[in-house]
Amino acid sequence: MIKIGVLALQGAFIEHEKTLRSLGAQAVEVRLPEQLDDLDALIIPGGESTTIGKLAVTFNLLDPLRTFAQYKPVWGTCAGMIMLAKDIGRDQPLIGVMDISVNRNAFGRQVDSFEMDLTVPDLGVEPFHAVFIRAPLVTGVHNGVKVLARLNDGENTGGIVAVQQKHWLATAFHPELTPDDRFHRYFLSNVAGLQG
Ligand code: GLN
Repeated sequence: MIKIGVLALQGAFIEHEKTLRSLGAQAVEVRLPEQLDDLDALIIPGGESTTIGKLAVTFNLLDPLRTFAQYKPVWGTCAGMIMLAKDIGRDQPLIGVMDISVNRNAFGRQVDSFEMDLTVPDLGVEPFHAVFIRAPLVTGVHNGVKVLARLNDGENTGGIVAVQQKHWLATAFHPELTPDDRFHRYFLSNVAGLQG
């Protein structure tokens, strides 16, 4: 059985665990460095990236997370995307492995939460219903980062909201909050190479 860790310092980790279990994976909550040791991959959930970062420093997890990410697949959703970015234009503790620039809380107060059907060619023709909650936006991609999805402006030129680089995946929205499990499947098989 494949064993996927979900960083459980703060945020929406339980929902990720449920989806992982429904796909036949073992899901374990990670709060201590040694809990990273025998994982096949890791998910960093949504929540508040400043809080997740501070707690990671407090629990001596930041360096172990950086080392883990060098070798093992990691997926960050929302605050998790912020944690994976190298550049967020301000100083806060990050894992900082992906060559993306990210703008935190990119959507003004009026629309700080919204839902949108996205076109995600790698997941098939069926649109993906995405939930955005005080979401970040990717403002720059470098060094072979693949854009998986953009905001739906009808012309496929909207802001970037899902990216992949090597064994790292980042989504600005919350696929763990909707029943569609295609992003979890994509992470396990296409990004992590764990399920056929
Ligand atoms: N706004 C949060 C942050 O800056 C992210 C929100 C989320 O994860 N839903 O970290």
